[in-house]
Amino acid sequence: MLVQPRVEPMAEPDIGVKRFHIWTIGCQMNEAESAKAAALLRQAGYLPTPVEEEADVIIVNTCVVRQQAEDKAVGHIGSLARLKRRKPDLRIAVTGCLVTGQQAKLAERFPYVDLFYGPSEFERLVEIAPELREVDFDLAELPHYYDEGQSDPDVTAFVPVIYGCNFVCSFCIVPYRRGRERSRPMEQVVTEVRRLAARGVKEVTLLGQTVNAYGHDLPGQPDLADLLAAVHEVEGIERIRFLTSHPKYFSDKLIQAIADLPKVCEHVNLPVQSGDNEVLRRMRRTYTVEYYRERIEKIRETIPGVTLSTDIIVGFPGETEEQFRATYRLLEEIQFDKVHVAMYSPRPGTLSARWEDDVPRQEKWRRHRAIETLQERICRERNLRYIGTTVEVLVDGMAKGRWRGRTRGNTLVFFEAPGEWKGRLVSVRITEASPWYLLGEPVGERVAALAS
Ligand code: SF4
Repeated sequence: MLVQPRVEPMAEPDIGVKRFHIWTIGCQMNEAESAKAAALLRQAGYLPTPVEEEADVIIVNTCVVRQQAEDKAVGHIGSLARLKRRKPDLRIAVTGCLVTGQQAKLAERFPYVDLFYGPSEFERLVEIAPELREVDFDLAELPHYYDEGQSDPDVTAFVPVIYGCNFVCSFCIVPYRRGRERSRPMEQVVTEVRRLAARGVKEVTLLGQTVNAYGHDLPGQPDLADLLAAVHEVEGIERIRFLTSHPKYFSDKLIQAIADLPKVCEHVNLPVQSGDNEVLRRMRRTYTVEYYRERIEKIRETIPGVTLSTDIIVGFPGETEEQFRATYRLLEEIQFDKVHVAMYSPRPGTLSARWEDDVPRQEKWRRHRAIETLQERICRERNLRYIGTTVEVLVDGMAKGRWRGRTRGNTLVFFEAPGEWKGRLVSVRITEASPWYLLGEPVGERVAALAS
């Protein structure tokens, strides 16, 4: 899932201190890695600034999953040339999927960039922030989002648990840029979650490109269900989520773990990508529509009240109108709570990039719009069912003067109320619903959630 470019939060007042600015685009893994880079720079005495012109160090964290994300990242790196000319002491680093295997080419194209480092190569940050040499930390143990200096700590945090991907979906660049799967040892993940809980984090999202492949490369081969059970034991953590799953590994054991572990939220993101078996075969997704449907039935039957989201690609090479309609029908049938839809764009180096990109751009747009329109109707209908009910919301902050949080099913909720609500688990009675969010009023609080 693609997220919009994000920058570090507001600057904190401090004169004479070096400052950093991080620009991030792409998936939650990128967000987690930017947060870890931020934590490291803070440990070295730097403070964040939202203003690039004020920064001594700038990190650009890139994504190449879609052409649009790559264009934005490349455009942003290009825009820094002028700033570097004005401030020759400025140190610029570029990381993320754009960098893997491309360092020499990029260095030629952007000679003013001081450092290109691959995903997770945090030790190389010392090349632009030499103060890091003086800091005593164990990189493997230093948690993502572990940021002592942050004045307004986050309530939710991403925790990468497995890097890379062993699948070879024909449209996807990730395996070429992120490498083979590498799971973090279970104790390391649990230690990180404990430290996050100790500083007020209430909800963790365990991350992986294929998160449910977790553990097969570790001694004893624990799996994601085992990891969820271990994280469930951490005191202070109230909610656990995980992203992104592959249907092939969505086992009965994992489904049962979600049903049995109260802290694991009843929300499953399971990308289907297409509702047609021939397209799925050419995508090299390794499952059929029938298999996917059976997994969804099992999930719904085992986990009461579960919400579901999925990812779709429209306009894949050779996708006919009939094949597109099969996807449309599948969405109508399953009634997902959320659908992320993307138009296919060829990624150089992938298998499908060798095939003709033969669905015209306008037609891709039409299919994209059709899915969005359908999903808007489904979401509206699904959200209307919440009116008059009371849902549990973990408040993670404010937006436009209202408190904002999510239900266990991952639906966005806003409410207005005086006082400080961030970090609280609140019962909210829903009064209004739109396809994208719910509005309500607080009617109670789960007090146990306040203990961290
Ligand atoms: S499972 Fe497929 S789409 Fe997902 S990261 Fe791996 S190769 Fe890419």
